[in-house]
Amino acid sequence: MENARPALETKLINSKTTAEALSPQIQAVLARIEAKRDEVVALTQDLVRIPTVNPPGDAYEACARYIGERLKPRGFAVEYVRALGAPGDSDAKPRLNVVARWQGSSSGECVHFNSHIDVVEAGSGWTSDPFGAEIRDGKIFGRGTCDMKGGLAASIIACEALIESGLPIPGALEISGTVDEESGGFAGVGYLAERGYFSKPRVHYVIIPEPLGVDRICLGHRGVWWGEVETKGRIAHGSMPFLGDSAINHMSAFIHLLETQLQPRLKQRHTSEPVEPPGARVSTLNINSIHGGQVEQHYAIDARGWPTADSPSPVVAHSCRTVLDRRFIAEENLEAVKQEIIDMLDELKRTRPGFDFGIRDIMSFVPTATPRDAPVVDATARAIARVLGREPSYISSPGTYDQKHIVRTGKLKDCIAYGPGILDLAHQPNEYVGIQELVDSAKVMALASLTLTGAMR
Ligand SMILES: [Zn+2]
Repeated sequence: MENARPALETKLINSKTTAEALSPQIQAVLARIEAKRDEVVALTQDLVRIPTVNPPGDAYEACARYIGERLKPRGFAVEYVRALGAPGDSDAKPRLNVVARWQGSSSGECVHFNSHIDVVEAGSGWTSDPFGAEIRDGKIFGRGTCDMKGGLAASIIACEALIESGLPIPGALEISGTVDEESGGFAGVGYLAERGYFSKPRVHYVIIPEPLGVDRICLGHRGVWWGEVETKGRIAHGSMPFLGDSAINHMSAFIHLLETQLQPRLKQRHTSEPVEPPGARVSTLNINSIHGGQVEQHYAIDARGWPTADSPSPVVAHSCRTVLDRRFIAEENLEAVKQEIIDMLDELKRTRPGFDFGIRDIMSFVPTATPRDAPVVDATARAIARVLGREPSYISSPGTYDQKHIVRTGKLKDCIAYGPGILDLAHQPNEYVGIQELVDSAKVMALASLTLTGAMR
């Protein structure tokens, strides 16, 4: 079937009126989604108006219950899964996930649409209410419209249209709304994956409607290593620093090496994966944070010119810590990524008097890439060609997203990200999603589901 795909796509694209190539039943599904234009808009607006800001994890329960209460009367079995004991979970801010499953006409494979319900803080620079979901020029504006409540709404509408169509659909459709993706997903997809929600035999294909664009299929992501490096010094009076040994000075030497040696080297390492934007087709290192010496205060001087109570006391820093965010490409491996940083630190230890360090892993995920001929990729590509009349492009993400848990913990390889919206708008002020994109992506999701469940070839 994989070998036949390019020929089929070419034929469809060349036929101009791609709808002609579709059976009356399929055309009816597409027409049904077209008729749900106002509904997908209203659903996106409702979701955006629930301010699920992370951190701290506000209104998760309200959002999860909204999704569950919508899907239950439509024939879904709805489960709420609170990530008890997971980081961030508390009675005040429960990490509540929702998983809804609709069983088709016979047993078969399951297509799962997973969306995170959390959004990042609104920040400044908005020209309208970030949680107002205002409509202007064919777009819905608000925090989470693009990342990714628009995608969630599109997947719900796609599944509802399929169910209402009455077509015999073998297998099952699932929709989940999960928490904390923006902060690693450990209480969301990570928690569910550990409990079998993203593994066979329950689930076979996962589509994550992140805002990658209606004609792009995201196959995976680069790897990441988060680590903390500490340099050590010796405390002394700040007026006589020569009696101590400053951990901050030692850190400065390390950072100098990162800047002059490692970062230039990383820029030379190119990946063959189609990472977007192309600037991320190399390895990168971001120095996420640095802290040395006393805890920082907001120092101030009062009206007399005297320091207020929060004033520093004079000490030589005996510890300095930096957090490193190292993104690596498929051509590298995690051990080597860590080792080259350890080698630099060892070199400093040999050459710099008094230099001592500690290094600690914080978190890591290896790169992932679903093969282009995997069924979920193939079905989505064909659906894009049918709905939009053009070939999809295949991309990879610079940063990780919940696919990492599905692949690593769920051991499910058939996973992609596909959804409406422009990635660059994610986390920005005046974030929006186009209404046409919502409708188009819902159509693509519906057709891909028909193919994957075996309802349509
Ligand atoms: Zn997202």
